[in-house]
This record gives sequence, structure tokens and C-alpha cells, in this order.
Amino acid sequence: MGNLVAIVGRPNVGKSTLFNRLTGTRQAIVNEEAGVTRDRLYGKAFWNGVEFSVVDTGGYATNSDDIFEEEIRKQVLIAIEEADVIVFVVDVITGVTDYDEGVAELLRRTNKPVLVLVNKVDNHDRIPEASYFYSMGLEDLFPISSINGAGTGEFLDRLVEVF
Ligand code: GDP
Ligand code: MG
Repeated sequence: MGNLVAIVGRPNVGKSTLFNRLTGTRQAIVNEEAGVTRDRLYGKAFWNGVEFSVVDTGGYATNSDDIFEEEIRKQVLIAIEEADVIVFVVDVITGVTDYDEGVAELLRRTNKPVLVLVNKVDNHDRIPEASYFYSMGLEDLFPISSINGAGTGEFLDRLVEVF
């Protein structure tokens, strides 16, 4: 069974917080490729009796904007290549950024399922702001809070449906 879920998105949106919530543990596997160090953390998760693997694409080498953008691009392309489902995390507090638009542009080209998680929706007041992210042209979107778990049940129900 190849239920591999890749979590992508720019730094600070809450990818690792989500990974920890889904897996409960951190099982680090560190890879190095093409001169850029990237650490990819793999873990196991369950929902409604369905087991799946999650990869947290963290650890950007960020000295300049160019490297930053190139590294995000690389992580997204790896995710598109290796994952069965791509979970694209964005941040309701910062709103839609240029980097988000860039990632979305790449993700619109894949025919693999993409779920957008608008993270940091810690309370209902932020739900209307979460809908601004529909402007990225990706339709399967869920407002969630990785910190308090709000909305994560709806997201996980959908996730295990698309495997
Ligand atoms: P990453 O760089 O994408 O892996 O992001 P992290 O998981 O390291 O989180 C970055 C920051 O956002 C940390 O200070 C987290 O505590 C915070 N954060 C993550 N998820 C949430 C959330 O759902 N709500 C709020 N308010 N903060 C969050
Ligand atoms: Mg992280």
C-alpha cells in the first residue's frame, strides 16, 4: 500500500506541528542531495483504521531569497514525485503570500490529489479569512488548527477518502 502523504509549504506555517499531531512521534530520516541539505521526517499515522505515512519537508537552507525559493520548489517537486497525496499548508495569519502562489502554481500541474490546509484557524472568527486561499485555484481546502486540533477531523476524513 502506498499511502504516502507529503506536507509542503513555506517555513513557519505549522507543517511540523501538524506532523507531530498526525504521528505522535518524530522519526527522523536525514537525506542529502545535490549539495543542499534537506531533512525529511517520516512518520506513521492512523485515521479510522487506515494507516498512512507522513513526510514533513522541513529544513530549508535559507541564506538568500533565491535559495529559499529554489529549495521550496525542490521540496514540492519531490513531493509531487514521491507522494500519493500532497498536503499544502498555508497560514491564515499571514494570508496568501507570493511563495504560496508559487507553490500553488506547481501543485495545479499535478494530477495527484492536493489538499490545502489553512492552518492557525484557532477559532471560528478566522474561518472567513481562510476562504481567501481559494484564490490559489486549489479546491480541496480545510481550515484547521494544528495546535488545538480544530478542523483536523474533517481533513482526515477527506484524506483517507482520497487514497
Ligand atoms: P513549520 O516551519 O512549517 O514546520 O512550522 P512549525 O510547525 O515549526 O510552526 C511554526 C510556528 O507556528 C510555531 O510557533 C507554532 O507553534 C505555530 N503554529 C503551528 N500551528 C499553529 C496553529 O494551528 N495555530 C497557531 N496559532 N500557531 C501555530
Ligand atoms: Mg518544520
